[in-house]
Amino acid sequence: MFRIGIGQDTHRLAEGLPLVLGGVRVESERGAEGHSDADALAHAVTDAILGAMCEGDIGVHFPDRDPQWKDADSLQLLARVMWLAGERGYRVANLDATVSIERPRLRPYVEEMRARLAGVLGVEIDCVSVKAKTGEGLDAVGEGRAVTVQAIVLLERT
Ligand SMILES: [Zn+2]
Repeated sequence: MFRIGIGQDTHRLAEGLPLVLGGVRVESERGAEGHSDADALAHAVTDAILGAMCEGDIGVHFPDRDPQWKDADSLQLLARVMWLAGERGYRVANLDATVSIERPRLRPYVEEMRARLAGVLGVEIDCVSVKAKTGEGLDAVGEGRAVTVQAIVLLERT
């Protein structure tokens, strides 16, 4: 049996903050604001997996208000959700994600993001796609004020 899930996440960008995407620290003048490490890619993937299981969203499992998750490593949160998926008998068939950010160019980091995510998801790297786009100068992404990620995942019951 297959289950499909979608995830979306946006973080505001500000100067002087770190930018972490898919567990990879990206060199950037502007980084993402957030309670945890503000890893929008990890958050969108986590939501996609929760969505495929009809298990609510990341905010339900790891509330912003809970100091336990302050500065949390979002790949650790994803690992917890993968543990839950394993308990339910699911494994990831494949993941596809699109990261939209105006600057910097993410191409040099994409392979490492795929490898980090594949490691946490327990799949081969060729089951994990990460694509990078800009906002073409339009809206919050294009003006360099936000990073936004869309992710879709297919789970397979083993
Ligand atoms: Zn987020």
